[in-house]
Amino acid sequence: REPLMEISNLKKYFPIKQGILNRLKGKATPVVKAVDDVNFTIYKGETLALVGESGCGKSTTGRSLLRLIEPTAGKVLFEGKNILEHSSQELKRARREMQIVFQDPYASLHPRMTVAEIIAEPLHIHKVGTLAEREKRVESLMETVGLSTRMKNRYPHEFSGGQRQRIGIAKALALNPKLVICDEPVSALDVSVQAQVINLFQDLQKEFNLTYLFISHDLSVVKHISDRVGVMYLGKLVEIAKTEELFSSPKHPYTKALLSARPMIHDKDRMERIFLEGELPTPLNPPSGCRFHTRCPFKMERCAVEEPIIKDFEDGHQLACHLI
Ligand code: SF4
Ligand code: MG
Repeated sequence: REPLMEISNLKKYFPIKQGILNRLKGKATPVVKAVDDVNFTIYKGETLALVGESGCGKSTTGRSLLRLIEPTAGKVLFEGKNILEHSSQELKRARREMQIVFQDPYASLHPRMTVAEIIAEPLHIHKVGTLAEREKRVESLMETVGLSTRMKNRYPHEFSGGQRQRIGIAKALALNPKLVICDEPVSALDVSVQAQVINLFQDLQKEFNLTYLFISHDLSVVKHISDRVGVMYLGKLVEIAKTEELFSSPKHPYTKALLSARPMIHDKDRMERIFLEGELPTPLNPPSGCRFHTRCPFKMERCAVEEPIIKDFEDGHQLACHLI
C-alpha cells in the first residue's frame, strides 16, 4: 500500500472570544480543541471513513487537510510534500489534486450560476483549456455523474437534492483530483436517493482511481462504502481498523458503544448493548486523561489522569485505550 496523504500531530484549536471583563481580569483565552493531535495515513485508492458524533472533529479534520481552515499545528504530507508549509501559489496547485464534496449541495452551489458555469468554475480558476474545451469537459462531466447535458443552462434550484449533489461531484472531479474528501455527502438526501449517490461514488472511484476520505456519522453507509474506518471522539482519533474488523471486533469502549447502539436487522449481528453514562462533554475543557473516561463503563483510576496514546493492537488496527 502506498500512502497518498500522511497526517501527523494535526491540531486545530479555535480561540473563543471572551467578554471585556474577563480580558481586563487577564483571564487566558479559552480554546476549543476541535482536533487534538490526530495521526493517520490515507492510502492510494482506498476509502477511509471518519466516524463519530457531531462535534467530534471529523469535519474540522477534513477541512484542515485541504487548508480550507488553517490547522493550528501538525504535518500533512501529500505525496511526500507538507501542504501546511505551501505558499499560496503552491497550495493553489496542490488543490487541483484534492477536492471536497460537501453535505449540503445547495449551500455550496452558487444560486445565480448555471450548472455549466458551476462545473466549469475550477477550470476557469486554474486556466485549464480553451473555452470550447471547457465546454466539452463540462458536458462529459455531466454525463459521467448521470446528469443530462440538456440541463446545463439551468440553475441549482431547478434540480432535486440528489441531482444537486451530482453537480457538486462533477465540479469536484473537474480537475481530475486524486483525493476527494466527502463530508457527509449523502446525509442531506432522501434515503431512496442515498443509495444511488453512494453507487455513483463507488463507480467514480473505480473509473478515475480516486482515493476518498469519507466523513459520516451514518455507520451503515460507512460499513458499505469504506475499506477502513477511523473513529473520533472529542477531537481525538480513538480507533482505526479495517472495516470488517472494526465492525466485527471493535476494541475501544467508545467504538463498542457506537456500534452497539445501531439498530440491527439480523439477530446474529446483534452485540451486547453498551450504554454510555453522562452527556457528551464539550471540546472546550475536555475531560482530563482519557477524554472518554466520564462516560466509559470500563474506566479505571488511571484513565482520569493518564492520556492513552494510540498504538498498534495488531497490524493495521490501532487504538487509544489503557485496557490494551
Ligand atoms: Fe475507558 Fe480508560 Fe479505555 Fe478511556 S482509557 S476508553 S476510560 S478504559
Ligand atoms: Mg460535520
